[in-house]
Amino acid sequence: MSETDRLRETIPASPGLSDAASLERVPRVVVVGAGIAGLAAAAGLSERGVDVDVLEARNYLGGRVGGWPDTLADGAPAAMNRGFHAFFRQYYNLRTLLRRADPHLSALTPVDDYPLVDALGRHDTFRGLPHTPPFNALAFALRSPTFRLRDLVRLDAKAAAPLATASVPQTYFDLDDRTAETFLQDINFPAAARHLAFEVFARSFFAKPEYLSAAELVAMFHIYFLGSSEGLIFDVANENFDVALWNPLRKYLEGNGVRFHTGLSVESVSMDADVRVSCGVDAEFTADAVVLATDVAGLQHIVAGSPSVGDAAWRDQVADLHTAPEFVVLRLWLDRPVRADRAAFVGTGGRPPLDNVSVLERYEREAAVWAARTGGSVVELHAYSVTDTDDEVRRGLLARMHELYPETVGATIVEERLLRRGDCPRLAPGDFARRPTVQTPDRRVVLAGDGIRVDLPVALMERAATTGWLAANSLLGHFGLAGHDVHTVPNHGRSAVLRRLAKRAKGGRR
Ligand SMILES: Cc1cc2nc3c(=O)[nH]c(=O)nc-3n(C[C@H](O)[C@H](O)[C@H](O)COP(=O)(O)OP(=O)(O)OC[C@H]3O[C@@H](n4cnc5c(N)ncnc54)[C@H](O)[C@@H]3O)c2cc1C
Repeated sequence: MSETDRLRETIPASPGLSDAASLERVPRVVVVGAGIAGLAAAAGLSERGVDVDVLEARNYLGGRVGGWPDTLADGAPAAMNRGFHAFFRQYYNLRTLLRRADPHLSALTPVDDYPLVDALGRHDTFRGLPHTPPFNALAFALRSPTFRLRDLVRLDAKAAAPLATASVPQTYFDLDDRTAETFLQDINFPAAARHLAFEVFARSFFAKPEYLSAAELVAMFHIYFLGSSEGLIFDVANENFDVALWNPLRKYLEGNGVRFHTGLSVESVSMDADVRVSCGVDAEFTADAVVLATDVAGLQHIVAGSPSVGDAAWRDQVADLHTAPEFVVLRLWLDRPVRADRAAFVGTGGRPPLDNVSVLERYEREAAVWAARTGGSVVELHAYSVTDTDDEVRRGLLARMHELYPETVGATIVEERLLRRGDCPRLAPGDFARRPTVQTPDRRVVLAGDGIRVDLPVALMERAATTGWLAANSLLGHFGLAGHDVHTVPNHGRSAVLRRLAKRAKGGRR
Protein backbone atom coordinates (compact mmCIF):
# COMPACT_ATOMS: atom_id res chain seq x y z
CA MET A 1 0.00 0.00 0.00
CA SER A 2 2.85 2.40 0.61
CA GLU A 3 5.02 4.12 -1.94
CA THR A 4 8.37 2.50 -2.62
CA ASP A 5 10.18 4.29 -5.46
CA ARG A 6 13.65 5.18 -4.21
CA LEU A 7 14.22 7.48 -7.17
CA ARG A 8 11.28 9.76 -6.46
CA GLU A 9 12.31 13.40 -6.28
CA THR A 10 11.81 15.87 -3.46
CA ILE A 11 11.37 19.59 -3.89
CA PRO A 12 12.43 20.73 -0.43
CA ALA A 13 10.38 23.15 1.61
CA SER A 14 11.74 26.66 1.86
CA PRO A 15 12.83 27.56 5.38
CA GLY A 16 10.92 29.89 7.69
CA LEU A 17 9.15 30.07 11.02
CA SER A 18 7.25 26.94 11.96
CA ASP A 19 4.25 28.72 13.45
CA ALA A 20 2.43 31.93 12.60
CA ALA A 21 1.94 32.53 16.33
CA SER A 22 5.51 33.88 16.39
CA LEU A 23 4.62 36.57 13.84
CA GLU A 24 3.44 40.02 14.87
CA ARG A 25 -0.01 39.16 13.53
CA VAL A 26 -1.47 35.84 12.37
CA PRO A 27 -2.07 36.07 8.60
CA ARG A 28 -5.51 35.31 7.25
CA VAL A 29 -6.13 33.51 3.93
CA VAL A 30 -9.30 32.70 2.02
CA VAL A 31 -9.18 29.49 -0.04
CA VAL A 32 -11.79 29.41 -2.80
CA GLY A 33 -12.79 25.86 -3.78
CA ALA A 34 -12.78 22.73 -1.62
CA GLY A 35 -11.58 20.27 -4.24
CA ILE A 36 -8.26 18.48 -3.72
CA ALA A 37 -6.28 21.63 -4.63
CA GLY A 38 -8.11 23.84 -2.14
CA LEU A 39 -7.95 21.24 0.62
CA ALA A 40 -4.20 20.78 0.10
CA ALA A 41 -3.70 24.55 0.25
CA ALA A 42 -5.82 24.76 3.42
CA ALA A 43 -3.75 21.97 5.00
CA GLY A 44 -0.44 23.59 4.06
CA LEU A 45 -1.45 26.97 5.46
CA SER A 46 -3.30 25.86 8.59
CA GLU A 47 -0.46 23.54 9.64
CA ARG A 48 1.72 26.65 10.00
CA GLY A 49 -0.92 28.40 12.09
CA VAL A 50 -2.37 30.59 9.31
CA ASP A 51 -6.04 31.51 9.82
CA VAL A 52 -7.98 29.92 6.93
CA ASP A 53 -11.53 30.20 5.57
CA VAL A 54 -12.51 27.78 2.80
CA LEU A 55 -15.37 28.92 0.56
CA GLU A 56 -17.02 26.24 -1.59
CA ALA A 57 -19.90 26.73 -4.02
CA ARG A 58 -21.29 23.20 -3.62
CA ASN A 59 -22.61 21.74 -0.42
CA TYR A 60 -20.01 18.96 -0.37
CA LEU A 61 -16.20 18.82 -0.27
CA GLY A 62 -13.90 17.08 -2.71
CA GLY A 63 -14.91 18.91 -5.92
CA ARG A 64 -14.76 16.42 -8.79
CA VAL A 65 -14.01 13.70 -6.23
CA GLY A 66 -16.99 14.76 -4.14
CA GLY A 67 -19.50 12.31 -2.69
CA TRP A 68 -22.80 12.65 -0.85
CA PRO A 69 -25.42 10.42 0.75
CA ASP A 70 -28.44 9.60 -1.38
CA THR A 71 -31.75 7.83 -0.81
CA LEU A 72 -33.29 5.38 -3.27
CA ALA A 73 -37.01 5.47 -4.15
CA ASP A 74 -37.78 2.70 -1.65
CA GLY A 75 -36.19 4.76 1.12
CA ALA A 76 -32.99 2.71 1.23
CA PRO A 77 -29.84 4.69 1.99
CA ALA A 78 -27.33 4.82 -0.87
CA ALA A 79 -24.16 6.63 -1.82
CA MET A 80 -23.54 8.80 -4.85
CA ASN A 81 -20.44 10.60 -6.04
CA ARG A 82 -18.80 12.32 -8.99
CA GLY A 83 -17.60 8.98 -10.39
CA PHE A 84 -14.94 6.30 -10.13
CA HIS A 85 -11.41 7.55 -9.33
CA ALA A 86 -8.10 5.65 -9.39
CA PHE A 87 -5.60 6.65 -6.68
CA PHE A 88 -2.19 5.74 -8.02
CA ARG A 89 0.75 5.05 -5.74
CA GLN A 90 2.81 7.79 -7.41
CA TYR A 91 0.30 10.40 -6.20
CA TYR A 92 2.74 11.34 -3.45
CA ASN A 93 1.34 14.77 -2.60
CA LEU A 94 -2.27 13.61 -2.63
CA ARG A 95 -1.40 10.70 -0.38
CA THR A 96 0.44 13.06 1.97
CA LEU A 97 -2.76 15.09 2.21
CA LEU A 98 -4.97 12.05 2.83
CA ARG A 99 -2.54 10.72 5.46
CA ARG A 100 -3.15 13.82 7.55
CA ALA A 101 -6.51 12.31 8.52
CA ASP A 102 -5.80 8.67 7.78
CA PRO A 103 -2.12 7.90 8.54
CA HIS A 104 -2.27 4.32 7.18
CA LEU A 105 -4.50 5.17 4.20
CA SER A 106 -6.97 2.61 5.44
CA ALA A 107 -9.66 4.30 3.31
CA LEU A 108 -7.88 3.06 0.18
CA THR A 109 -7.97 -0.51 -1.10
CA PRO A 110 -5.79 -1.87 -3.91
CA VAL A 111 -7.48 -3.03 -7.10
CA ASP A 112 -5.43 -5.97 -8.22
CA ASP A 113 -6.08 -5.61 -11.93
CA TYR A 114 -7.21 -3.04 -14.40
CA PRO A 115 -8.08 -4.87 -17.60
CA LEU A 116 -8.64 -3.04 -20.87
CA VAL A 117 -10.92 -4.53 -23.50
CA ASP A 118 -11.31 -3.39 -27.10
CA ALA A 119 -14.09 -3.67 -29.68
CA LEU A 120 -12.89 -7.14 -30.73
CA GLY A 121 -12.82 -8.40 -27.16
CA ARG A 122 -9.02 -8.37 -26.91
CA HIS A 123 -7.81 -7.86 -23.35
CA ASP A 124 -4.75 -6.10 -22.02
CA THR A 125 -3.94 -6.45 -18.37
CA PHE A 126 -1.54 -4.91 -15.89
CA ARG A 127 -1.72 -7.77 -13.40
CA GLY A 128 1.64 -9.16 -12.33
CA LEU A 129 3.79 -6.79 -14.38
CA PRO A 130 7.25 -6.05 -13.02
CA HIS A 131 7.31 -2.64 -11.39
CA THR A 132 10.67 -1.46 -12.66
CA PRO A 133 10.86 0.40 -15.95
CA PRO A 134 11.63 -0.46 -18.71
CA PHE A 135 10.84 -4.09 -17.82
CA ASN A 136 7.21 -3.21 -17.06
CA ALA A 137 6.78 -1.80 -20.59
CA LEU A 138 8.62 -4.70 -22.15
CA ALA A 139 6.59 -7.32 -20.27
CA PHE A 140 3.35 -5.49 -21.10
CA ALA A 141 4.32 -5.38 -24.78
CA LEU A 142 5.36 -9.02 -24.88
CA ARG A 143 2.10 -10.38 -23.53
CA SER A 144 -0.30 -7.87 -25.06
CA PRO A 145 -2.55 -9.17 -27.84
CA THR A 146 -2.53 -5.70 -29.39
CA PHE A 147 1.21 -5.08 -29.25
CA ARG A 148 3.39 -7.83 -30.70
CA LEU A 149 7.13 -8.29 -30.50
CA ARG A 150 7.40 -7.37 -34.16
CA ASP A 151 5.64 -4.07 -33.36
CA LEU A 152 8.42 -3.28 -30.92
CA VAL A 153 11.00 -3.77 -33.66
CA ARG A 154 9.02 -1.58 -36.04
CA LEU A 155 8.80 1.38 -33.65
CA ASP A 156 10.53 4.45 -35.05
CA ALA A 157 13.21 4.81 -32.38
CA LYS A 158 13.99 8.43 -33.22
CA ALA A 159 10.38 9.55 -33.13
CA ALA A 160 9.79 7.49 -29.96
CA ALA A 161 12.85 8.93 -28.17
CA PRO A 162 10.80 11.51 -26.19
CA LEU A 163 9.12 8.62 -24.36
CA ALA A 164 12.48 7.61 -22.90
CA THR A 165 13.70 11.12 -22.13
CA ALA A 166 10.55 12.74 -20.77
CA SER A 167 10.93 15.68 -18.43
CA VAL A 168 8.69 18.61 -17.58
CA PRO A 169 8.65 21.32 -18.95
CA GLN A 170 11.04 20.25 -21.78
CA THR A 171 8.63 17.61 -23.08
CA TYR A 172 6.01 20.34 -23.46
CA PHE A 173 8.45 22.67 -25.25
CA ASP A 174 9.24 19.83 -27.67
CA LEU A 175 5.83 18.28 -28.24
CA ASP A 176 2.98 20.52 -27.14
CA ASP A 177 2.37 21.72 -30.70
CA ARG A 178 1.36 18.21 -31.83
CA THR A 179 -1.52 15.89 -31.13
CA ALA A 180 -1.17 12.57 -29.35
CA GLU A 181 -2.56 10.88 -32.44
CA THR A 182 0.07 12.21 -34.84
CA PHE A 183 2.80 11.38 -32.34
CA LEU A 184 1.62 7.76 -32.11
CA GLN A 185 1.41 7.52 -35.89
CA ASP A 186 4.91 8.97 -36.25
CA ILE A 187 6.42 6.43 -33.90
CA ASN A 188 4.67 3.59 -35.75
CA PHE A 189 2.72 2.56 -32.71
CA PRO A 190 0.59 -0.41 -33.80
CA ALA A 191 -3.00 0.60 -34.61
CA ALA A 192 -4.65 -1.98 -32.33
CA ALA A 193 -2.57 -0.97 -29.30
CA ARG A 194 -3.17 2.66 -30.16
CA HIS A 195 -6.88 2.12 -30.03
CA LEU A 196 -6.72 0.23 -26.79
CA ALA A 197 -4.03 1.29 -24.33
CA PHE A 198 -3.46 4.81 -25.60
CA GLU A 199 -7.02 5.70 -26.42
CA VAL A 200 -8.14 4.58 -22.99
CA PHE A 201 -5.44 6.71 -21.38
CA ALA A 202 -6.06 9.71 -23.61
CA ARG A 203 -9.73 9.58 -22.84
CA SER A 204 -9.09 9.41 -19.13
CA PHE A 205 -7.73 12.92 -19.67
CA PHE A 206 -11.19 13.74 -21.06
CA ALA A 207 -9.89 14.16 -24.58
CA LYS A 208 -9.97 12.16 -27.78
CA PRO A 209 -6.41 11.32 -28.93
CA GLU A 210 -6.87 13.59 -31.94
CA TYR A 211 -7.36 16.56 -29.60
CA LEU A 212 -4.94 15.65 -26.80
CA SER A 213 -1.50 17.26 -26.73
CA ALA A 214 1.33 14.83 -27.55
CA ALA A 215 3.24 16.33 -24.61
CA GLU A 216 0.45 15.40 -22.18
CA LEU A 217 0.47 11.86 -23.54
CA VAL A 218 4.24 11.51 -23.20
CA ALA A 219 4.22 13.06 -19.71
CA MET A 220 1.42 10.70 -18.71
CA PHE A 221 3.26 7.69 -20.07
CA HIS A 222 6.27 8.80 -18.02
CA ILE A 223 4.32 9.42 -14.79
CA TYR A 224 2.35 6.18 -14.84
CA PHE A 225 4.67 3.77 -16.63
CA LEU A 226 8.17 4.52 -17.83
CA GLY A 227 9.20 7.04 -15.18
CA SER A 228 7.96 5.39 -12.01
CA SER A 229 8.47 2.07 -10.31
CA GLU A 230 5.28 2.36 -8.22
CA GLY A 231 3.47 0.27 -10.85
CA LEU A 232 0.23 0.86 -12.70
CA ILE A 233 -1.95 -0.88 -10.15
CA PHE A 234 -3.96 1.64 -8.20
CA ASP A 235 -6.08 1.98 -5.07
CA VAL A 236 -9.73 2.95 -4.76
CA ALA A 237 -11.72 4.47 -1.91
CA ASN A 238 -13.42 1.66 0.00
CA GLU A 239 -16.34 3.85 1.09
CA ASN A 240 -18.08 6.76 -0.61
CA PHE A 241 -15.67 9.68 -1.04
CA ASP A 242 -17.32 11.84 1.64
CA VAL A 243 -17.15 9.11 4.27
CA ALA A 244 -13.75 7.71 3.34
CA LEU A 245 -11.82 10.87 2.52
CA TRP A 246 -13.37 14.27 3.04
CA ASN A 247 -15.28 14.05 6.33
CA PRO A 248 -12.11 12.88 8.14
CA LEU A 249 -9.98 15.51 6.37
CA ARG A 250 -12.49 18.22 7.20
CA LYS A 251 -12.34 17.19 10.84
CA TYR A 252 -8.54 17.31 10.77
CA LEU A 253 -8.55 20.77 9.15
CA GLU A 254 -11.18 22.10 11.53
CA GLY A 255 -8.90 20.88 14.31
CA ASN A 256 -6.29 23.24 12.81
CA GLY A 257 -8.82 26.09 13.02
CA VAL A 258 -9.96 26.03 9.37
CA ARG A 259 -13.53 27.30 8.86
CA PHE A 260 -15.56 25.76 6.03
CA HIS A 261 -18.35 27.70 4.31
CA THR A 262 -20.18 25.49 1.80
CA GLY A 263 -22.90 26.58 -0.61
CA LEU A 264 -21.12 29.94 -1.03
CA SER A 265 -20.08 30.88 -4.54
CA VAL A 266 -17.36 33.52 -4.85
CA GLU A 267 -18.21 36.28 -7.31
CA SER A 268 -15.22 38.59 -7.10
CA VAL A 269 -11.99 39.52 -5.36
CA SER A 270 -10.85 43.09 -4.87
CA MET A 271 -7.41 44.21 -3.92
CA ASP A 272 -6.47 47.22 -1.83
CA ALA A 273 -4.69 47.19 1.53
CA ASP A 274 -6.67 44.01 2.19
CA VAL A 275 -7.92 41.30 -0.13
CA ARG A 276 -11.72 41.27 -0.13
CA VAL A 277 -13.46 38.13 -1.35
CA SER A 278 -17.10 38.65 -2.15
CA CYS A 279 -19.86 36.05 -2.50
CA GLY A 280 -22.59 38.45 -3.63
CA VAL A 281 -24.33 41.00 -1.49
CA ASP A 282 -24.36 39.56 1.97
CA ALA A 283 -21.08 37.69 2.36
CA GLU A 284 -17.64 39.22 2.21
CA PHE A 285 -14.37 37.91 3.66
CA THR A 286 -11.35 40.09 4.31
CA ALA A 287 -7.93 38.48 4.22
CA ASP A 288 -4.22 39.02 3.61
CA ALA A 289 -4.22 36.68 0.61
CA VAL A 290 -6.43 34.39 -1.44
CA VAL A 291 -5.95 30.98 -3.05
CA LEU A 292 -8.17 30.52 -6.12
CA ALA A 293 -8.50 26.73 -6.28
CA THR A 294 -11.55 26.45 -8.50
CA ASP A 295 -12.10 24.66 -11.79
CA VAL A 296 -11.43 26.58 -15.02
CA ALA A 297 -14.92 28.10 -15.37
CA GLY A 298 -14.92 29.17 -11.71
CA LEU A 299 -11.55 30.90 -12.10
CA GLN A 300 -12.68 32.67 -15.26
CA HIS A 301 -15.89 33.83 -13.58
CA ILE A 302 -14.07 35.24 -10.56
CA VAL A 303 -11.31 36.93 -12.58
CA ALA A 304 -13.85 38.46 -14.99
CA GLY A 305 -15.63 39.99 -11.99
CA SER A 306 -12.40 41.25 -10.34
CA PRO A 307 -10.83 44.06 -12.38
CA SER A 308 -8.20 44.84 -9.72
CA VAL A 309 -6.71 41.32 -9.83
CA GLY A 310 -3.66 40.65 -12.03
CA ASP A 311 -2.55 42.55 -15.10
CA ALA A 312 -3.95 42.60 -18.63
CA ALA A 313 -1.70 39.83 -19.97
CA TRP A 314 -2.52 37.51 -17.06
CA ARG A 315 -6.24 38.24 -17.29
CA ASP A 316 -6.13 37.38 -21.01
CA GLN A 317 -4.33 34.15 -20.15
CA VAL A 318 -7.10 33.15 -17.73
CA ALA A 319 -9.83 34.15 -20.18
CA ASP A 320 -8.13 31.99 -22.82
CA LEU A 321 -8.31 28.76 -20.77
CA HIS A 322 -10.59 26.01 -22.01
CA THR A 323 -12.66 23.25 -20.51
CA ALA A 324 -12.66 19.72 -21.99
CA PRO A 325 -15.88 18.39 -23.53
CA GLU A 326 -18.61 17.19 -21.20
CA PHE A 327 -18.75 13.69 -19.75
CA VAL A 328 -21.48 11.48 -18.32
CA VAL A 329 -21.41 9.24 -15.25
CA LEU A 330 -24.32 6.76 -15.13
CA ARG A 331 -24.76 4.78 -11.91
CA LEU A 332 -27.21 1.86 -11.97
CA TRP A 333 -28.67 -0.20 -9.17
CA LEU A 334 -29.51 -3.54 -10.86
CA ASP A 335 -31.83 -6.20 -9.47
CA ARG A 336 -29.37 -9.01 -10.20
CA PRO A 337 -25.63 -9.45 -9.87
CA VAL A 338 -23.06 -9.21 -12.61
CA ARG A 339 -20.98 -12.36 -13.05
CA ALA A 340 -18.74 -13.12 -10.10
CA ASP A 341 -15.56 -12.81 -12.19
CA ARG A 342 -16.28 -9.27 -13.44
CA ALA A 343 -13.42 -6.96 -12.45
CA ALA A 344 -13.93 -3.97 -10.16
CA PHE A 345 -12.91 -1.72 -13.04
CA VAL A 346 -12.50 -2.24 -16.79
CA GLY A 347 -11.33 0.37 -19.30
CA THR A 348 -12.82 0.02 -22.76
CA GLY A 349 -11.59 1.09 -26.20
CA GLY A 350 -13.52 1.22 -29.47
CA ARG A 351 -16.92 0.85 -27.77
CA PRO A 352 -18.37 4.36 -27.88
CA PRO A 353 -19.78 5.99 -25.90
CA LEU A 354 -18.49 3.71 -23.10
CA ASP A 355 -15.06 4.45 -21.59
CA ASN A 356 -15.11 2.33 -18.48
CA VAL A 357 -17.28 0.17 -16.25
CA SER A 358 -16.96 -0.33 -12.55
CA VAL A 359 -18.75 -2.78 -10.30
CA LEU A 360 -19.04 -0.92 -7.05
CA GLU A 361 -19.87 -3.72 -4.63
CA ARG A 362 -16.38 -5.08 -5.33
CA TYR A 363 -14.80 -2.22 -3.37
CA GLU A 364 -17.29 0.35 -1.97
CA ARG A 365 -18.90 -0.45 1.38
CA GLU A 366 -22.26 1.24 0.72
CA ALA A 367 -22.73 -0.62 -2.59
CA ALA A 368 -21.61 -3.89 -1.01
CA VAL A 369 -24.23 -3.50 1.73
CA TRP A 370 -26.98 -2.80 -0.82
CA ALA A 371 -25.90 -5.68 -3.08
CA ALA A 372 -25.74 -8.10 -0.16
CA ARG A 373 -29.22 -7.08 1.01
CA THR A 374 -30.94 -7.15 -2.40
CA GLY A 375 -28.88 -9.67 -4.37
CA GLY A 376 -28.29 -7.00 -7.03
CA SER A 377 -25.28 -5.10 -8.38
CA VAL A 378 -24.27 -1.45 -8.48
CA VAL A 379 -22.63 -0.66 -11.80
CA GLU A 380 -21.17 2.64 -13.00
CA LEU A 381 -20.63 3.51 -16.65
CA HIS A 382 -18.53 6.47 -17.81
CA ALA A 383 -18.64 8.26 -21.18
CA TYR A 384 -16.08 11.00 -21.85
CA SER A 385 -16.06 13.68 -24.58
CA VAL A 386 -19.79 13.37 -25.18
CA THR A 387 -21.79 15.50 -27.60
CA ASP A 388 -25.02 13.46 -27.77
CA THR A 389 -28.05 14.13 -25.59
CA ASP A 390 -28.39 12.48 -22.17
CA ASP A 391 -30.94 10.02 -23.59
CA GLU A 392 -28.68 9.02 -26.47
CA VAL A 393 -25.65 8.61 -24.21
CA ARG A 394 -27.68 6.60 -21.71
CA ARG A 395 -29.01 4.31 -24.45
CA GLY A 396 -25.51 3.84 -25.86
CA LEU A 397 -24.04 3.08 -22.43
CA LEU A 398 -26.72 0.50 -21.61
CA ALA A 399 -26.23 -1.22 -24.99
CA ARG A 400 -22.48 -1.45 -24.33
CA MET A 401 -23.06 -2.81 -20.83
CA HIS A 402 -25.34 -5.51 -22.27
CA GLU A 403 -22.74 -6.38 -24.91
CA LEU A 404 -19.86 -6.53 -22.44
CA TYR A 405 -21.75 -8.12 -19.53
CA PRO A 406 -24.57 -10.11 -21.20
CA GLU A 407 -25.91 -11.22 -17.83
CA THR A 408 -27.24 -7.66 -17.40
CA VAL A 409 -29.53 -7.89 -20.46
CA GLY A 410 -32.48 -9.16 -18.43
CA ALA A 411 -31.71 -7.06 -15.38
CA THR A 412 -34.17 -4.46 -14.13
CA ILE A 413 -32.74 -1.07 -13.31
CA VAL A 414 -34.06 -0.51 -9.80
CA GLU A 415 -32.66 3.01 -9.61
CA GLU A 416 -30.26 5.17 -11.56
CA ARG A 417 -28.42 8.50 -11.42
CA LEU A 418 -27.04 10.29 -14.44
CA LEU A 419 -24.54 13.13 -13.98
CA ARG A 420 -23.47 15.24 -16.91
CA ARG A 421 -20.69 17.74 -16.22
CA GLY A 422 -18.01 19.71 -18.03
CA ASP A 423 -15.48 20.82 -15.45
CA CYS A 424 -12.20 19.21 -16.49
CA PRO A 425 -9.46 21.37 -18.05
CA ARG A 426 -8.71 20.96 -21.74
CA LEU A 427 -5.24 19.56 -22.49
CA ALA A 428 -5.03 20.32 -26.20
CA PRO A 429 -1.92 21.17 -28.24
CA GLY A 430 -0.62 24.62 -27.34
CA ASP A 431 -2.53 24.84 -24.03
CA PHE A 432 0.50 24.32 -21.77
CA ALA A 433 2.29 27.60 -22.58
CA ARG A 434 -0.91 29.59 -22.10
CA ARG A 435 -1.85 28.04 -18.77
CA PRO A 436 -1.44 30.38 -15.76
CA THR A 437 0.95 29.25 -13.04
CA VAL A 438 0.53 29.03 -9.25
CA GLN A 439 2.08 32.49 -8.95
CA THR A 440 0.21 35.46 -10.38
CA PRO A 441 1.30 39.08 -10.92
CA ASP A 442 0.12 39.78 -7.34
CA ARG A 443 1.89 37.93 -4.50
CA ARG A 444 -1.33 37.92 -2.50
CA VAL A 445 -3.21 35.91 -5.14
CA VAL A 446 -2.16 32.35 -5.95
CA LEU A 447 -3.79 29.65 -8.07
CA ALA A 448 -4.16 25.91 -7.62
CA GLY A 449 -5.94 23.14 -9.48
CA ASP A 450 -5.41 20.53 -12.15
CA GLY A 451 -5.74 23.20 -14.86
CA ILE A 452 -2.84 25.25 -13.45
CA ARG A 453 0.63 24.98 -14.95
CA VAL A 454 3.30 23.40 -12.81
CA ASP A 455 6.65 22.36 -14.25
CA LEU A 456 6.67 18.97 -12.57
CA PRO A 457 5.65 15.48 -13.76
CA VAL A 458 2.20 15.37 -12.15
CA ALA A 459 -1.29 14.93 -13.60
CA LEU A 460 -4.96 15.01 -12.68
CA MET A 461 -5.62 14.55 -8.93
CA GLU A 462 -1.90 14.74 -8.24
CA ARG A 463 -1.57 17.99 -10.20
CA ALA A 464 -4.42 19.36 -8.08
CA ALA A 465 -2.73 18.27 -4.83
CA THR A 466 0.74 19.43 -5.89
CA THR A 467 -0.42 22.89 -6.97
CA GLY A 468 -2.40 23.15 -3.71
CA TRP A 469 0.70 22.51 -1.58
CA LEU A 470 2.75 24.85 -3.80
CA ALA A 471 0.14 27.61 -3.53
CA ALA A 472 0.35 27.29 0.26
CA ASN A 473 4.17 27.33 0.06
CA SER A 474 4.13 30.51 -1.98
CA LEU A 475 2.02 32.34 0.62
CA LEU A 476 3.92 30.82 3.54
CA GLY A 477 7.16 32.16 2.02
CA HIS A 478 5.52 35.58 1.68
CA PHE A 479 4.58 35.49 5.40
CA GLY A 480 8.05 34.26 6.47
CA LEU A 481 6.75 30.80 7.38
CA ALA A 482 8.28 27.43 6.47
CA GLY A 483 6.91 25.58 3.45
CA HIS A 484 6.21 21.88 2.88
CA ASP A 485 8.23 19.34 0.86
CA VAL A 486 6.60 18.07 -2.30
CA HIS A 487 7.53 14.89 -4.14
CA THR A 488 7.26 13.64 -7.71
CA VAL A 489 8.32 10.75 -9.87
CA PRO A 490 11.81 11.40 -11.33
CA ASN A 491 11.65 14.39 -13.65
CA HIS A 492 13.83 12.80 -16.33
CA GLY A 493 13.94 9.63 -18.39
CA ARG A 494 14.40 7.02 -15.72
CA SER A 495 16.20 4.28 -17.52
CA ALA A 496 19.82 4.94 -18.48
CA VAL A 497 19.55 2.17 -21.10
CA LEU A 498 16.54 3.79 -22.75
CA ARG A 499 18.11 7.25 -22.53
CA ARG A 500 21.24 5.97 -24.27
CA LEU A 501 19.19 4.22 -26.94
CA ALA A 502 17.13 7.37 -27.45
CA LYS A 503 20.27 9.48 -27.79
CA ARG A 504 21.77 7.04 -30.26
CA ALA A 505 18.54 6.94 -32.28
CA LYS A 506 18.48 10.74 -32.44
CA GLY A 507 22.14 10.92 -33.44
CA GLY A 508 21.96 8.06 -35.92
CA ARG A 509 19.16 9.62 -37.92
CA ARG A 510 20.68 13.05 -38.36
C1 LIG B 1 -15.49 11.30 -13.89
C2 LIG B 1 -14.10 11.66 -13.49
C3 LIG B 1 -13.16 10.67 -13.27
C4 LIG B 1 -11.86 11.00 -12.93
N1 LIG B 1 -10.96 10.00 -12.68
C5 LIG B 1 -9.72 10.31 -12.25
C6 LIG B 1 -8.81 9.29 -11.89
O1 LIG B 1 -9.16 8.11 -11.95
N2 LIG B 1 -7.58 9.64 -11.46
C7 LIG B 1 -7.19 10.96 -11.36
O2 LIG B 1 -6.06 11.24 -10.96
N3 LIG B 1 -8.04 11.95 -11.70
C8 LIG B 1 -9.28 11.67 -12.15
N4 LIG B 1 -10.15 12.67 -12.47
C9 LIG B 1 -9.67 14.07 -12.39
C10 LIG B 1 -9.77 14.60 -10.96
O3 LIG B 1 -11.10 14.53 -10.51
C11 LIG B 1 -9.32 16.06 -10.94
O4 LIG B 1 -8.03 16.16 -11.50
C12 LIG B 1 -9.26 16.68 -9.54
O5 LIG B 1 -10.33 16.27 -8.74
C13 LIG B 1 -9.25 18.19 -9.67
O6 LIG B 1 -9.23 18.80 -8.40
P1 LIG B 1 -9.25 20.38 -8.27
O7 LIG B 1 -9.19 20.69 -6.84
O8 LIG B 1 -8.22 20.95 -9.17
O9 LIG B 1 -10.64 20.86 -8.91
P2 LIG B 1 -12.16 20.56 -8.48
O10 LIG B 1 -12.26 19.21 -7.90
O11 LIG B 1 -12.98 20.87 -9.68
O12 LIG B 1 -12.44 21.60 -7.32
C14 LIG B 1 -12.76 22.94 -7.57
C15 LIG B 1 -13.81 23.36 -6.57
O13 LIG B 1 -14.04 24.76 -6.73
C16 LIG B 1 -15.43 24.98 -6.53
N5 LIG B 1 -15.77 26.26 -7.15
C17 LIG B 1 -15.78 26.59 -8.46
N6 LIG B 1 -16.14 27.87 -8.62
C18 LIG B 1 -16.33 28.37 -7.38
C19 LIG B 1 -16.69 29.65 -6.88
N7 LIG B 1 -16.93 30.69 -7.71
N8 LIG B 1 -16.81 29.82 -5.54
C20 LIG B 1 -16.57 28.80 -4.68
N9 LIG B 1 -16.22 27.57 -5.11
C21 LIG B 1 -16.10 27.36 -6.44
C22 LIG B 1 -16.07 23.78 -7.20
O14 LIG B 1 -17.41 23.60 -6.76
C23 LIG B 1 -15.14 22.66 -6.78
O15 LIG B 1 -15.56 22.07 -5.58
C24 LIG B 1 -11.46 12.36 -12.84
C25 LIG B 1 -12.39 13.37 -13.07
C26 LIG B 1 -13.71 13.04 -13.38
C27 LIG B 1 -14.68 14.14 -13.63
